Amino acid sequence: MYSIHIIDLKFQQVEETIASFLIQGKGKPVLIETGPHSTWNQLKFSLQHLGLQPKDLAAVLLTHIHFDHAGAAWEFAKAGVKVYLHPKGLAHLSKPERLWNSAAKIYGHEQMDTLWGPMESIDQSLLVPVEDTKKILIEELTFIPIHSPGHASHHIAWQLDDLVFTGDVGGVKIKNGPVVPPCPPPDIDIEAWKASIIKILDRHPKELYLTHFGKITNPKEHLSQLIEILEDWALYIKRRFDNKDQAEDITPEFMKYTAKQLESKGAGKEIQKLYELANPSWMSVGGLLRYWKLKSEGRI
Ligand SMILES: [Zn+2]
Repeated sequence: MYSIHIIDLKFQQVEETIASFLIQGKGKPVLIETGPHSTWNQLKFSLQHLGLQPKDLAAVLLTHIHFDHAGAAWEFAKAGVKVYLHPKGLAHLSKPERLWNSAAKIYGHEQMDTLWGPMESIDQSLLVPVEDTKKILIEELTFIPIHSPGHASHHIAWQLDDLVFTGDVGGVKIKNGPVVPPCPPPDIDIEAWKASIIKILDRHPKELYLTHFGKITNPKEHLSQLIEILEDWALYIKRRFDNKDQAEDITPEFMKYTAKQLESKGAGKEIQKLYELANPSWMSVGGLLRYWKLKSEGRI
């Protein structure tokens, strides 16, 4: 048997926006998600609290290589811990300059340090690419990597028995708010995302663990609500795209639209702020506009 610790990384000094998961069985523990490097001290402190140093881990499993999930992976690699990830993510972590520069273009250079922190390269010998649904045994734990594009082309949901760690493909749900889809550029693909959700449902999970944030005990209901709101957001942006509206005009209105949606589903102003921190509206506008543009050009 094993226990699962949900580690709150307290991103931007706020609770319940980004999580890491520590799975502690009979052997060395496994960590799923590292969070960004900006929360590295918090993660180290939480591990210490459990009597662990980074080098004590058997492995780190990443759902995808976005900064808020994988930004601190290099610190574990530096301590000699292997990092398991999607084959498409490998080059980005062994040579992170491109990833960092393209993020800096989106967030602005001055924001990069406070939001995400630095990213150093990981030696290829410590990066382990995993094939779709091919079982992996780490200590006595068997993990199944479910390739699950839609949010990102290099996305994996990690199955452990009847639990699935969904990264971002299972959406964002904070406290008593509803589930919503994070849609950042450049990989959003609505059809692929829906297919990935069905692929996860077909494995009949009893519980989901969301990086943003925590345990879900009604996976079927949760994921069907996610499909509904994913389609709703996609159609909202399609209307604006067809109308040739620009991102800077759409964003403030989309923010109002989603705030109202959150409000009507039980998330008050304070919780709405957490959603905006974990999943900024302007990013979803950018991601969905790109999706419709590529689709209109027949490139998806
Ligand atoms: Zn992501």
